[in-house]
Amino acid sequence: MEPVNVYEGLSPVMSITTTKPSYIGAEEYWRLEDYVKDDFAGVLIPNASIRKRIKDLSVAIRDDYKNKNPHFIWVADGAWPFFRDFKQHYREVAGNGFTEQLSRVKSYDGMSSTGKRKFLDVDFSDVAGKDIVLFEDIIDTGGTIRDVFDYLQQHDPASVRVATLLDKRVEKTHPVKADYALFSIPDEFVVGYGLDYDDSCRDLDDVYVLSESGQRRLA
Ligand code: 5GP
Ligand code: MG
Repeated sequence: MEPVNVYEGLSPVMSITTTKPSYIGAEEYWRLEDYVKDDFAGVLIPNASIRKRIKDLSVAIRDDYKNKNPHFIWVADGAWPFFRDFKQHYREVAGNGFTEQLSRVKSYDGMSSTGKRKFLDVDFSDVAGKDIVLFEDIIDTGGTIRDVFDYLQQHDPASVRVATLLDKRVEKTHPVKADYALFSIPDEFVVGYGLDYDDSCRDLDDVYVLSESGQRRLA
C-alpha cells in the first residue's frame, strides 16, 4: 500500500512578491487600534502563516538531526519569537533532545545598517563537536549571520546550519546560505514578530511593513 502523508522536508522558501496588504487579505488580521493603523503600510505575513512554516521547520529539523542532539543558537533580540515558537513545535515532534543558547548581535541603528557588527553577548567556548542550528530573524545583506557563522567556525563545531525566518531579496554583500529560509521578502523595512524599529514593534504577532508616517512617528 502507498504510504500516506510522507514528509518530504521543508518546502522551498515562500516568496512574498507584493507588499500590498490585500495580498493576504489583511483586513481580518488588523488587530491594531485605529490610532496606530496609520503607522503600517500593511501586514506582510500574518501570524498564522508564520506558525505554519515554523511547524514544518520543526519537522524538517527533527528529520535532519535524527540520532543527534542539535545545539540551537538564536540571535537576540530579534529571533526570540521565532525561536520560542520553533521550540514549542520542536518539543512536540522531537522531544527534549537539544541544547540552546543565545548570542546577542546588533548591527542596525534606526532603519539603516551601521555596517559594524557588535558581538554583545557571545560565549562559544562550549560548541566544539556540536551540531549547531543558528536561528536568525532576517538576513538582509548577510553580514550579521556571516560574522556569527565565521566566529562559530573558529570554535570547531561538528556542523553549522542557518535557519532564518525572513530572507530579504537584496544583494548579499556577505554571501551566506540559509539552509532553512521560511519567507523570502521584498526589499522593505519590516517590523513585528521580533523585528524592531528602534526597539518598538517587536511584540507584534504579525510581520508588518512600516508606512512613511509610521517611520516618522516612531523615529
Ligand atoms: P544583515 O547583517 O544581514 O544586513 O542584517 C541583518 C540584521 O539587520 C538583522 O538581524 C536585523 O536585526 C536587521 N534588519 C535587516 N533588515 C531589517 C528589517 O527590514 N527590519 C528590521 N526590523 N531589522 C532588519
Ligand atoms: Mg537580528
